[in-house]
Amino acid sequence: MSTATLLDAPVVPVFVGGKFTPHQAEEYQSVFNPSTGELIGRTPLLGAEHVDAAVEAAAKAFESWSRTSYTKRTGIFFRFKELMEREFDALAQLVTRENGKTLDEARGDVRRGVECVEFAAGISHLAKGEFLPQLAEHIDGQTSREPIGVCAGITPFNFPAMVPLWMFPLAIACGNTYVLKPSEKVPLTAIRLAELLREAGLPDGVFNIVQGGREVVDALCTHPKVVALSFVGSTAVARHVYALGCSHGKRVQSAGGAKNVLLVMPDAEPDSTLRAIMGSAFGCAGQRCMAGSVLMGVGEVADALRDRVVGAMDALKIDDTSANPQAEMGPVIDAGSQSRLRDLIGQGEKGGAKLVRDGRKLDRDRGFFVGPTLFDEVEPGMKVFRDELFGPALTMLRPKTLDEAIRIMGTISYGNGASIFTTSGGAARQFIREMPAGMIGVNVGVPAAPALFSFSGWNHSFFGDLHVMGVEGVKFYTRQKMVLSRWDSTYKRTQGW
Ligand code: NAD
Repeated sequence: MSTATLLDAPVVPVFVGGKFTPHQAEEYQSVFNPSTGELIGRTPLLGAEHVDAAVEAAAKAFESWSRTSYTKRTGIFFRFKELMEREFDALAQLVTRENGKTLDEARGDVRRGVECVEFAAGISHLAKGEFLPQLAEHIDGQTSREPIGVCAGITPFNFPAMVPLWMFPLAIACGNTYVLKPSEKVPLTAIRLAELLREAGLPDGVFNIVQGGREVVDALCTHPKVVALSFVGSTAVARHVYALGCSHGKRVQSAGGAKNVLLVMPDAEPDSTLRAIMGSAFGCAGQRCMAGSVLMGVGEVADALRDRVVGAMDALKIDDTSANPQAEMGPVIDAGSQSRLRDLIGQGEKGGAKLVRDGRKLDRDRGFFVGPTLFDEVEPGMKVFRDELFGPALTMLRPKTLDEAIRIMGTISYGNGASIFTTSGGAARQFIREMPAGMIGVNVGVPAAPALFSFSGWNHSFFGDLHVMGVEGVKFYTRQKMVLSRWDSTYKRTQGW
């Protein structure tokens, strides 16, 4: 019989000034393998003094890092990419172990992260300024983009590799130094990335990690030496971080929750549409900020669509993702999430939605599983339509026309993603023009912006101006300097002072 207790699990270290240190704390967050419920680590919920130590290390490193040549900076990120490729499978396995997503999904998580590193390695081109000779007689104008200082990132549990990699490679490539606070539920992948970044030759103090929860977040939002904050997580916390950070004079980009729509027109191609819907709604057990969670079957397609979706749901292989690479859907992140979803399913049923498949019925003896769930005949006023569910649950509506569907979708308070499935260019164009969401898919189930673009959530899915990644990310992590110079061949000192 196992005698392992909470205290046997290793304490997750911080990474400050180039050193990994497992500090003790009064409270810990347990890190589980969600497939089995096995305890694999303890995240210390540290206090403001640890934020201070990390920010001081970053501020000290900024003095030399901000002057480091672009050649040297990009060289480090090319090496970091090579190391991530070398460790690709191990990183994916670590993501699966601490997050529970399938190995294929974990590979996607790491691959999207590698693409962010590739983007950051192109910083010399991205950060180039402009030059206009002779803008007035003998006067030249030029701009450059300059680093801003110590930046901080706060990340959610659902993408342990990709979301931190949206942030720190670009910030650091721009010449800034960084403090990351990963999700206390999945802190292990970030630690491995820090080891690889150190191996790639990043000087001590340029990248730091502090472990913790709310106290660390608030300390980062208010620390006088933190100049910029990137947040990704739920809308309530995104709003809090945005307000607190802004009121302390920081630039903040704060991405929140979502409620994404998958709209199927009667003329959609059935097989590819079904594959896209299943991947979007049940991939990562529905725990993606771009997961499709509202299914709209427009007009006469609704019955056939529902039947095919139900058939595919019933065929999904749900299993321990860390033991079975064939698993097609894994668990949700923890017991709290499992019971929250079970409650929401109960509330949806009481609220009048027709429960076609009930994820509460999935019976497994361990791990935090919720089965795929489908509500049909959902109405716009219902809680299951309004709220982000963030789990393997799809809510289906049956608008009669595209116009009616677009009107209903306009009532959703979030604005990350919306996809249409159709073979009609006219319908696609109307959808693109009229949907109030920042990322639109046409015959694509997860229209998440890749690294070359900015992740452009709207409405309650984003607070701020410049989004994460892409050229907006470069602007967010730099400030512009404008130089006017007057020179002509006769310009010389003609008299002494
Ligand atoms: P969360 O908001 O609970 O946690 C995110 C981060 O905020 C964590 O690091 C956590 O420690 C911290 N935090 C939590 N509560 C806090 C509080 N009261 N005060 C200060 N800090 C706090 O989110 P989560 O459960 O880890 O992730 C899921 C959410 O993230 C979903 O809503 C999902 O839609 C969203 N998400 C959004 C995007 C996007 O780009 N818009 C991407 C991924 C995830």
